[in-house]
Amino acid sequence: MKILEYPNDALREISEEVKDPTGVEVKQLILDMIQTLRANNGLGLAAPQVGKNLRICVIEIENELFVLINPEIKTLSNEKIPSEEGCLSFPNKFMNLQRHKRVKIKAIDLNGKSQIIRARGLLARVIQHEIDHLNGVLIVDRTEEVNQE
Ligand code: ZN
Repeated sequence: MKILEYPNDALREISEEVKDPTGVEVKQLILDMIQTLRANNGLGLAAPQVGKNLRICVIEIENELFVLINPEIKTLSNEKIPSEEGCLSFPNKFMNLQRHKRVKIKAIDLNGKSQIIRARGLLARVIQHEIDHLNGVLIVDRTEEVNQE
């Protein structure tokens, strides 16, 4: 799938809830997103980045795959940590930004089951990044520094 790049307007839309998480079309979209994520060596990809304004993200870190359908943030730690962050919609750009150190979310998985995920470190950062995409929020909104390669 083609990844939309900033400043494409579709990246700014608020994505819609998935009504039928186990539907054939949703499953196919998720499989296509996983393939696109891997082909681009990314850590995470949200559906609006491939032109589908639905609340779906896929994340793969250290060979562990997470499919998040209709993810909801339940709690965020008060503590935040800064780090360099990239995005497949901003090729070759890295920005330094603060994210909550820990996050607890609820989401539906690939089998249509509701799950709770508690994450810290890199996974917590990527989860916050991908959920931002579902709300039309991009890394440029959360940083003051832009380092271009
Ligand atoms: Zn991104």
